[in-house]
Amino acid sequence: TAKKRGASQVVVFEPQMLAETVERLDLVADLQRALQQGDLRLHYQPLVDLRSLRPVGVEALMRWTCPRRGVVPPDEFIGIAEESDLIVDMGLWALREGVRQLARWRCDFPGLGLNLNIAPRQLLDRDFVSHVADTLLIEGVPAAALTLELTETAMIRDPEMAGHQMTRLKDLGLRVAIDDFGTGYSSLSYLRRFPVDELKIDRSFINAMNRSAEDLALVRTVIDLAEALRLQTVAEGIEDADQLATLRTLGCRIGQGYHLSRPLVPTAAAEYLQTAQDKPRKAPTSPRPQP
Ligand code: C2E
Ligand code: MG
Ligand code: MG
Ligand code: MG
Repeated sequence: TAKKRGASQVVVFEPQMLAETVERLDLVADLQRALQQGDLRLHYQPLVDLRSLRPVGVEALMRWTCPRRGVVPPDEFIGIAEESDLIVDMGLWALREGVRQLARWRCDFPGLGLNLNIAPRQLLDRDFVSHVADTLLIEGVPAAALTLELTETAMIRDPEMAGHQMTRLKDLGLRVAIDDFGTGYSSLSYLRRFPVDELKIDRSFINAMNRSAEDLALVRTVIDLAEALRLQTVAEGIEDADQLATLRTLGCRIGQGYHLSRPLVPTAAAEYLQTAQDKPRKAPTSPRPQP
């Protein structure tokens, strides 16, 4: 079938496009049900101080096991949810669930922070800032313990509203991170224009830096830039000891990745935090050879 658009444009719909649209609507319906029935979960990936290897916080990552589809990875449902208003309700759920969990953990691990991923639609929602403020108040968590991870998309889509919301969040005392830094389209001037505390270097650069001089230069440049602007750097996707060593040499303070820990279910994350706390402050030195 062909549909006329305006005077000259003709858009042809292939049967496959219809199938894809139906599948998307179907997924949104299942996701809506999952949210209502409490089938969404948060897993937590430790953020680690690269010098001491002690966890300083955790990033909350959404997980969905659908009764019909099985485990659906975030890359397959977050994007589709972001195209509809559903992401706003899902994000609100994650905010409440994550901050409630953080409040419990902070009884045993007082300095612990939480990083939460925020979709553009959420940030641009006029009620978002008051939802965040209310949640922190209800759970008794200080604003400085919460870092909101934004992508450059929201800042490009509506710079004025994004800046306004970010300023309100900063006024409450929250921290703001730019996620997947280096993959977006924003210019460096955005870093001055928007109140940002943290840059998360995208894992594609970390993954390539020990194989490619260009990627290494990029990572080094981001770390130096962040230091000059007094921003914290977080390296994403550290998968081996060589990457960890490189990042330490470059002066990157914080990191996360499978080499340090995978995202964990809440009980396993608590165990990880406990084990790290029980460890002696200094790594035990190996016995000196006797003269
Ligand atoms: P992200 O925020 O950049 O999260 C980091 C992703 O990298 C996570 O994927 C994490 O599991 C993965 N990762 C961590 N360490 C490693 C590593 O060493 N190697 C590799 N290969 N991957 C690593 P995940 O959990 O599949 O989430 C994918 C994306 O979905 C997230 O990317 C984020 O953009 C989005 N997302 C997840 N949860 C939420 C949420 O609650 N709200 C929103 N708006 N988006 C979310
Ligand atoms: Mg993130
Ligand atoms: Mg990221
Ligand atoms: Mg990502």
